[in-house]
Amino acid sequence: MKALVYHGTKDVSVDSVPDAKIEKPTDVVVKITTTNICGSDLHMYEGRTTVAKGTVLGHENLGRVEEVGNAVDTVKVGDYVCLPFNIGCGFCANCERGLTGFCLTCAEPGSAGAAYGFAGMGPYSGGQAEYLRVPYADFNCLQLPSDVKEKENDYVMLSDIFPTGWHATRLAGIKPGDSIVIYGAGPVGLMAGISANIQGASKVIIVDQHPDRLKLAEKIGAVAIDDSTGDAVEKVLALTEGLGADCGCEAVGYQCQDHHGHEVPNLTMNNLVKSVKATGGIGVVGVFLPKDPEASNAMAKKGQIAFDFGSFWIKGQKIGTGQANVKAYNRKLRDLIAAGKAKPSIIVSHELPLDQAAAAYKNFDDRKNGWTKVILKPAA
Ligand SMILES: [Zn+2]
Ligand SMILES: [Zn+2]
Repeated sequence: MKALVYHGTKDVSVDSVPDAKIEKPTDVVVKITTTNICGSDLHMYEGRTTVAKGTVLGHENLGRVEEVGNAVDTVKVGDYVCLPFNIGCGFCANCERGLTGFCLTCAEPGSAGAAYGFAGMGPYSGGQAEYLRVPYADFNCLQLPSDVKEKENDYVMLSDIFPTGWHATRLAGIKPGDSIVIYGAGPVGLMAGISANIQGASKVIIVDQHPDRLKLAEKIGAVAIDDSTGDAVEKVLALTEGLGADCGCEAVGYQCQDHHGHEVPNLTMNNLVKSVKATGGIGVVGVFLPKDPEASNAMAKKGQIAFDFGSFWIKGQKIGTGQANVKAYNRKLRDLIAAGKAKPSIIVSHELPLDQAAAAYKNFDDRKNGWTKVILKPAA
């Protein structure tokens, strides 16, 4: 089959690789019809992770079930399913509590969870490919309704960015009537904005520097703050009576850049402490990694940042971190899409066949204006 393979820094190509197949009776194989390129794929693309050369990337996957293992009960050939990017077993101590991003069965020793085609998340191949092996299929496959063909670009966002955006707002503890500030108007930040709107936020403020992304923030009804002059915190405070927003989200991660284009890994975290009110909650879903071999200084190489802990403490703020437990949210978010109350595909800018994936990575990585979210159609 054809798949997008990582060969090294900024070197990916669509190659012929061995077909995905049933390895355990609890597996299914899915023919991928839509798979996204994610902002977190770019950390790997840029050589800023420990992902192995030869890995097939792609953790945002949707498709049609092609083959079913003998022990699979509810998933049938022909079903359209969306796969959570994190792989859970359904029966370990963490999965039982809904913490499927931290599955103890699927994670390898020394890693905190499992995912398709992702650095440090186990040996699972990704779905930027014609076919994908799905372990523990009864648990992991989210069944999609009969309008899947017309809303496929919406439902595919259930694999990661919509639940991740939602998770950010839950970690931040948003309540109806709250104001919220979100750093990052990339796909996840925008999904956090949509999630905040659905949960009754009185004001959604989204900070970024890219005009195309800021335009999308406005399109979802947020106040878009352009940080290209570096004064985002002042602007947020001016919009929140000088107190800061009730809560905030981080949707950028460790490769965040200041308004001069320099990487400053602690920038969004410290700006959040400043622009969220005392006692407010902060949800951090942007990716931070324990190792960044290509970082420019010793601290960053170890995944450490200089965090304004004193200000954070004196303000009595709370922080929640980590990847989204997709299974905790995806069923209800699917129902919001089906009911026409959420339309996450609003952010899609490019829909391409798989064989254009390598060029798409380059354009997306260059933050080329207008490349806000790329989806690939391997079956087209
Ligand atoms: Zn993703
Ligand atoms: Zn588990």
